[in-house]
Amino acid sequence: MSMQTAASLSAESPGSDMYRLVEALYPICRSITGEGVRETLRIIQQHVPIVVHEVASGTRVFDWTVPNEWNIRDAYVKNAQGQRIIDFKRSNLHVMSYSVPIKARINADELKEHLFTLPDHPDWVPYRTSYYSSNWGFCLSHRQLSEMHDKEYEVCIDSTLQPGALTYGEYTIAGESSEEILISCHICHPSLANDNLSGIALAVALAKGLAASPRRYTYRFLFIPGTIGSITWLALNEAAASRIRHGLVLASIGAGKKLTYKKSRRQTSEIDRAALNVLKHSGEPYDVLDFSPYGYDERQYCSPGFDLPVGCFMRAPNGSFPEYHTSADNLEFVRPELLERSFDVCRAILDTLEHNRSYINQNPKCEPQLGKRGLYRAIGGAADHIDELAYLWVLNLSDGNHALLDIAERSGYPFAVIKTAADQLREHDLLKAE
Ligand code: ZN
Repeated sequence: MSMQTAASLSAESPGSDMYRLVEALYPICRSITGEGVRETLRIIQQHVPIVVHEVASGTRVFDWTVPNEWNIRDAYVKNAQGQRIIDFKRSNLHVMSYSVPIKARINADELKEHLFTLPDHPDWVPYRTSYYSSNWGFCLSHRQLSEMHDKEYEVCIDSTLQPGALTYGEYTIAGESSEEILISCHICHPSLANDNLSGIALAVALAKGLAASPRRYTYRFLFIPGTIGSITWLALNEAAASRIRHGLVLASIGAGKKLTYKKSRRQTSEIDRAALNVLKHSGEPYDVLDFSPYGYDERQYCSPGFDLPVGCFMRAPNGSFPEYHTSADNLEFVRPELLERSFDVCRAILDTLEHNRSYINQNPKCEPQLGKRGLYRAIGGAADHIDELAYLWVLNLSDGNHALLDIAERSGYPFAVIKTAADQLREHDLLKAE
């Protein structure tokens, strides 16, 4: 952790907890299947009691098939002197994920067809995968490649690609209602901190907080490999999917300049409106993106056969930051105070969904007299006094046809202010729940 970030948050803050989880998960070599995913889920289990599911390789999931399981013990390229010049043990990004095993001496030209670099960022190592076509490869810095002058190299990838399972984690927290809010994050990248680990850390922090709070909704957390994980879950859980009323995919929330929300396919669902209201009043720069059938697992949740109201919460969209899918997406790139701010914003979005209800004005014929109830701002007003106009909006629109989020949108107030006004009006019997 840098001095700046260490100094700006106390050791017990949610941001520091989230950062420590990112640190713990960072060294593990994850892919869409394998021991790295299991180890990741075991570490998450130290924080929240997720259930781990194993789905056998070969299982048909809609148009896809659960792939063979990939595991890796070691990999290297040795030069003519027998030195490991590319070494998986130094960084798991050096091996293309899902590389088939190989042990051979090959000439430099043949090797270079299997080497990947980033010429524009000569000190960074790219992250590459080849899940669905049989191949092998190494990733290295462009600088390192430019120093390779031998004619022949020894190549070893000690991996296995065999029938096994796809592993994912699931955690359900029951609420008053069986209607569900889905929180989904991907767990399939190796040592990449913002893309994948920051989303996991946010999901864990939200789960801990929600488990300790009163809840209207039931929450379902999925810790899944990207694409094939959400397809597998949807294929095996169609009944549960039909109970999802709102959902968020969490990704890349620990670095990046702007809070970013990508709308669900429906574009105007309650989660979309709740996220917009929170971002609009967040006091910091933000972006709202229309839905597109690309990105993270919202692609699957929002496929037309499901069309679930699931948006995606990010700080930096996939592909929009140079560090994306490179070794520069590391522990210095992610910052505890940004993790914490993302946590606060996400909690506010979920609070909006929890409390978005309709009420009925109990004194609908002309305005009730607020002053005699102490609801008008006193001179040098009490701390919990809010703008009286917020009371008037809540009273005026609480006719059974407007929920609190409708009132927040129409009045221009943050949802939290409208909710506080409604709570105070209920205490004075001026509002009743519908
Ligand atoms: Zn990614």
